[in-house]
Amino acid sequence: MENINRIYAEEITEIAFQKSKPYCYQCSIIVNQKYCPSCNTDDLMRLVEGVGNEYGVEWIIEHLINTNLKPVDMETEFHELLEELYPEPPNLCGAWVGQSQADILKDYDPAQYRQMLLNEIDNREQDGVIFTIDNGGKYYSSTDLIEFIDENLEVIK
Ligand SMILES: [Zn+2]
Repeated sequence: MENINRIYAEEITEIAFQKSKPYCYQCSIIVNQKYCPSCNTDDLMRLVEGVGNEYGVEWIIEHLINTNLKPVDMETEFHELLEELYPEPPNLCGAWVGQSQADILKDYDPAQYRQMLLNEIDNREQDGVIFTIDNGGKYYSSTDLIEFIDENLEVIK
């Protein structure tokens, strides 16, 4: 969550609150105020109907992102980027006909290719172009996140 905390943390947290309700686990009821009217506790969970109930909103943020944003396919994007940067096909007596320089690098120096991919991911993450909520398992586009926020944040006037 480190990365998303930096970008739009407030907005996405607000959406998580708006899309969930305070819930008393002990009494199994949705609560409409700060205290449970039945047992008087203020130790309330958040409930998302049809999803679950848990303390805090981190899990709701994760759920919202997982279900509403499409992960970025960084491997494909990186390969396409290389092909844009090096559009000329190699011309070595036709030895690599049909392959781009990106394909050849991937085949012949996979370690270097992998390192370049990881660097690209790092750079984009640091620039705030993409972010991850599971330590790099999946990456999401910040633009998609902004769009999601615009569509879902109910502004209270
Ligand atoms: Zn209660």
